[in-house]
Amino acid sequence: HRRVRRQIRNVCCIGAGYVGGPTAAMIALHNPHIRVTVVDRDEKRIRAWNSRHLPIHEPGLSDVVRAARDGLRPGVDGTGHFDASIEETTTRAPNLFFSTACAETIAEADVVMISVNTPTKRQGQGAGRATDMTAFEGATRDVATHSRRGCIIVEKSTVPCKTGQLIKNITQQHRPELDFPILSNPEFLSEGTAIKDLMRPDRVIIGCESTPSGIAAAEALADLYASWVPQERIVTNNIWSAELCKLTANAMLAQRISSINSISAICERTGADVGEIAKSIGLDRRIGPQFLKAGLGFGGSCFRKDIASLTYLAESLGLPEVAAYWEQVLTMNNYQRDRFALNVIAKLNNSLRGKKITILGYAFKKDTGDARESPALDVIRMLLEEGPKSIAIFDPLCSEADIRYELSALPAADAQDVVKVCADPYEACEDSSAVLVLTDWDMFKMQPRSAPVKAQPVDSPVIASFSPSTPADLLHLPQRSKEKPPTIV
Ligand code: NAD
Repeated sequence: HRRVRRQIRNVCCIGAGYVGGPTAAMIALHNPHIRVTVVDRDEKRIRAWNSRHLPIHEPGLSDVVRAARDGLRPGVDGTGHFDASIEETTTRAPNLFFSTACAETIAEADVVMISVNTPTKRQGQGAGRATDMTAFEGATRDVATHSRRGCIIVEKSTVPCKTGQLIKNITQQHRPELDFPILSNPEFLSEGTAIKDLMRPDRVIIGCESTPSGIAAAEALADLYASWVPQERIVTNNIWSAELCKLTANAMLAQRISSINSISAICERTGADVGEIAKSIGLDRRIGPQFLKAGLGFGGSCFRKDIASLTYLAESLGLPEVAAYWEQVLTMNNYQRDRFALNVIAKLNNSLRGKKITILGYAFKKDTGDARESPALDVIRMLLEEGPKSIAIFDPLCSEADIRYELSALPAADAQDVVKVCADPYEACEDSSAVLVLTDWDMFKMQPRSAPVKAQPVDSPVIASFSPSTPADLLHLPQRSKEKPPTIV
């Protein structure tokens, strides 16, 4: 059979979050003839996407959104790639929209990408490990109810292997007379570098069923990406492989972090330097230098939940040894945070009573304002158990509301009163007994224009960094001219 190439004119993305928003914006930017609409139930989020103050911070994101949403033609370099430093000149028709009209938008779409949250289940069977598919199922029901014949349904969220079957079951329940092509197109972007990752992805994976309609749908989606991604980076898989490769990729990345962290514990007892070891082994091309930075362990909304999902999947497939293997990655991650907090407490003579502790950086990594699942929360939890006078947090991007929302999960009844969120790093550091650097924000490492603040010889300075950078790094906090340097005790 000669397949007729499918034309896509209208894309709907359900979920205007860290993945849905930037991905849809990138598709719209590079496909000016296609209408891309991102829908979300969260009115506040949609309002923000339609404003100048986008709901998420990502370097370069506002340029891409302004180009596609407001019709400003982006600057493009000689190779056809978008370059924010090149002036926007002429206009183009806006083709990126954000809306709460889910049903209407789905009804007009040729492709619906489901990009909703898939967190870890909190209650019931598999709590703490299995994926909570409530939002995903809800979105799938909306698609099954409202979409038109032949609409391509794309799994963009990270989901357990065999979710394609779940979509099929739901669509057949609602529209038994129709057969929707289902694709898996997992997203590999990282927060903080989302635009860079989307602009030049290592690969785009498209999983499909090996039926004529499945293959045609995969080709149609591949065409959308091919407008800016080199053809050889667009890889077609069977749908189950595509689903499982996302969990595998995150598990492998997290595993490297836990592996180097386990070595850091040995280093602390022996005098070996984990930074030197990471550099030395990273020179081995079979190992490579990425993801070998020892620290507080991984945070964020993905790695922990995806490994938990993988272990649950292995267990439900009757593979307890496989589950136990990956479980160790999480165990090591928790151990690293405990070890860090216990070290700090020990350095403060095993008592935090009457002491102020400063936390510089709350985001789970630099260049994002995402406060979800930050390693800082685990450290704060342990510190609070020792009854400190106060804990002052400064983060350049995380909002106080988001940090307070995360703190509300802590068991300590007085957590909200003891913890103060400061808008100024100097205020946060004042009269502190310990300054803990928990996010690798550049501003905490920057070389000052003038001479660095000199460390005063004090009895027991406690400056604990999330990474093996030296305490001197911390003393390079940008200085405010003519004001006294921060008191670091
Ligand atoms: P998010 O929580 O930031 O956004 C999800 C959005 O979906 C929310 O705004 C929510 O209101 C909306 N939503 C939920 N159900 C809906 C429904 N039925 N109709 C309309 N809107 C609905 O989540 P995220 O960080 O963008 O992650 C989305 C998915 O992508 C997850 O599966 C995640 O694992 C995966 N992922 C995330 C990242 C990342 O770095 N954040 C990277 C790769 C993959």
